Amino acid sequence: MLPLDEANTNLPTADVIIIGSGIVGSSVAWHLTQAGCRNVLMVERESHQGKGSTGKSMGGVRAQFATPVNIQMSLYSIPFYASFEERLGLPSEYRPQGYLFVATKPSHLDYLRTNQTLQKSLGLKQVRMLTRDEIVAIVPQLRSDDVLGGSFCPTDGFVDPYSVMVGFTTRACEQGATLWRSTEVTGINLENGRINGVETTRGPVSTPVVVNAAGPWAAQAAALAGVDLPVEPLRRMLVPTEPFDGVSHAIPMVIDMTNGFHFRPESLGFLLAWNDPEETPGYKTDFEPSFIEKILVRAADRVPCFENLAVNPKRAWAGLYEMSPDHHAIIGPVHEVPGFFCANGFSGHGVMHAPATGKILSDLILRGATDVVDSAEVLSPGRFAKGALLHETAVL
Ligand SMILES: Cc1cc2nc3c(=O)[nH]c(=O)nc-3n(C[C@H](O)[C@H](O)[C@H](O)COP(=O)(O)OP(=O)(O)OC[C@H]3O[C@@H](n4cnc5c(N)ncnc54)[C@H](O)[C@@H]3O)c2cc1C
Repeated sequence: MLPLDEANTNLPTADVIIIGSGIVGSSVAWHLTQAGCRNVLMVERESHQGKGSTGKSMGGVRAQFATPVNIQMSLYSIPFYASFEERLGLPSEYRPQGYLFVATKPSHLDYLRTNQTLQKSLGLKQVRMLTRDEIVAIVPQLRSDDVLGGSFCPTDGFVDPYSVMVGFTTRACEQGATLWRSTEVTGINLENGRINGVETTRGPVSTPVVVNAAGPWAAQAAALAGVDLPVEPLRRMLVPTEPFDGVSHAIPMVIDMTNGFHFRPESLGFLLAWNDPEETPGYKTDFEPSFIEKILVRAADRVPCFENLAVNPKRAWAGLYEMSPDHHAIIGPVHEVPGFFCANGFSGHGVMHAPATGKILSDLILRGATDVVDSAEVLSPGRFAKGALLHETAVL
């Protein structure tokens, strides 16, 4: 690792300043430097990267979405993760073990079929519907009396978000970027309504372009530029189990569509997740011990041998989703403040969509257009004022 903070501590100007150096900020930095824009400054208020949502993520990556823009973001990002080591010479730990959606109602099956038609039309060839027997062949321990079928895509899977973030940052810095840690962006300066610099706890830096990659704190970062950004933090909790070999570790991410409970292999055990519908927005990052009982009930209901799982509450954790009103990312320029760009509101998908986000923003900043998705405009920050919200129903 380069001595990042020492690389260039007195930058008076930068071509682009990125607020936040999680997986999204670091992907933007790498894509910019890769495209030749080298004077990029990432400003991170924590002493170490990964203390935001990136370090709390489940690392799931999937292309099984319901809207074209989410599918296309994944169709850039997943092959990117598959070739990450080739491109960057550092690991992403991509494991293509798949995502398996398990349907227990006819409406689930209709939903999966409709999505697959769209996914296939956009180029996702490997996704397929499965019968109950095929599902049981993949996970024999699953309780299947109410299972009607499901869908599976073998190129979906998992990555290690921390490794990805470090990989992007390391290579971005080798290509000219600088990372300031323990430094907060405290102000954004405008001149004639345009971006012309930021105030930081290390002093001012001038720049014509600021990228908001502040994760769950995106609304506060946008407010520094006078921009009202509808991103809210929402707690999500994960429960890792102690070593357990009653179920194969080669299984995919399994999603019980009855209640949203999902799990995947992790280390010698499993990682259990369920989005409690009673959770309310706010900066709550304490793990709530009563959640363990709630999730274990759902785990044992779908996989009866999970009744024997051992869990150490001290190893469970909570982090923040960055929710947008339509559960889609908010990416692109804020037209009212020229030079201010957003990479926010991923609503639980920021790891899987980080590569596409970096590419889209680098394209929009340097060329004003991108071909990663058919229309980047659908993700624009301006869509809320226009009432042009998107609709995604498969939020995990
Ligand atoms: C429990 C959980 C499970 C998840 N599972 C998945 C999953 O399976 N798949 C998936 O794709 N996504 C998942 N996510 C979502 C994913 O983790 C996030 O969408 C993603 O990490 C967002 O990355 P980011 O870089 O935008 O934000 P962050 O990682 O939060 O980084 C933002 C950074 O900005 C810094 N910052 C903020 N304000 C300032 C400022 N004013 N000055 C300087 N620095 C500042 C913060 O310190 C922070 O480091 C999960 C999230 C959680 C909480």
